[in-house]
Amino acid sequence: MRVAFIGLGTMGEPMALNILKAGHEIVVNNRTKNKEELLAAHGAKRAITPQEAAREAEVIITCLSDTPDVEQVVLGDNGIIYGAQVGSVVVDMSTISPEATCRMADALSKKGIKMVDAPVSGGSEGAMHGTLAIMVGGDSLDVAKVLPVLKAMGTTITHVGPIGAGQITKSINQIIIAGVYVGVAEGMALGLKAGLDMEKVVQAISQGAAGSWVLSNRAMNMINNTYPLGFRVRLHQKDLGIALETARKLGVTLPVAAVVDQIETAVIANGYGDEDVSAVARSIREQSGIR
Ligand code: NAP
Repeated sequence: MRVAFIGLGTMGEPMALNILKAGHEIVVNNRTKNKEELLAAHGAKRAITPQEAAREAEVIITCLSDTPDVEQVVLGDNGIIYGAQVGSVVVDMSTISPEATCRMADALSKKGIKMVDAPVSGGSEGAMHGTLAIMVGGDSLDVAKVLPVLKAMGTTITHVGPIGAGQITKSINQIIIAGVYVGVAEGMALGLKAGLDMEKVVQAISQGAAGSWVLSNRAMNMINNTYPLGFRVRLHQKDLGIALETARKLGVTLPVAAVVDQIETAVIANGYGDEDVSAVARSIREQSGIR
């Protein structure tokens, strides 16, 4: 298929590479131009604007930071809406507001352009290995059309409902991992203070009921107090903001997510917002006097 990919960040760059490797034609666009070079070296075309990237594409993928960024790239000056062909499908793989997603889908549909929301989980590792979990919202025919491209990036692809349903599913994912990150951080702090060999502790418990992706992949960050990316704390806090807003509208209480939001505020205020989200352990370690 002819694919446009806009947003070559931590996630977007390896996802676009996997699309290329699967044999699709691809044109890339990134705000910071030098980030297009790796893809270009692998055979991707480059476009100066999102509008230009969208022009020839059947499927137009965005993987950007936050809601206003996607709105800018889709609807703003030189945006996708001014370049995309009638019948093409915009697939937004960023994690953003479900409400804004529905509003953008409405604006695009007035021009005969379709939209699917397809946020992902699985971290930078999943993006690199093409093993992301992809939560898809949209019309069945549109989802079927983009499936071959999604398959190049993920192994668990689930059509969960209409447009916006992918983003709500992603919120559920972020609420659950919020508690898990802080739970693992608290466990690691207790073990460090008790003077245990924490590598052995992780080995001992990771196959049991406490086992999780966070324990297996991020506990060592917390033990070593180094937090390479990964997934930025500030992006996870952005996701919790979306979840808390959706929950308030629906009348759902999220007490643990609200506390983790506060812990992340402290981590960001101390200058660690661009570290991996496992840096929530900084807060627990510091409060526990672990240097
Ligand atoms: P990132 O490394 O910060 O990359 C963000 C990308 O968005 C960059 O290409 C950036 O361009 C572009 N961008 C941001 N604002 C823009 C704007 N206003 N106009 C044009 N381009 C803009 O973020 P990421 O980690 O790849 O995350 C991307 C999305 O995936 C986020 O919604 C995040 O929540 C989600 N996600 C991330 C992970 C993870 O583990 N990292 C996992 C699951 C989901 P520049 O290069 O010019 O800055």
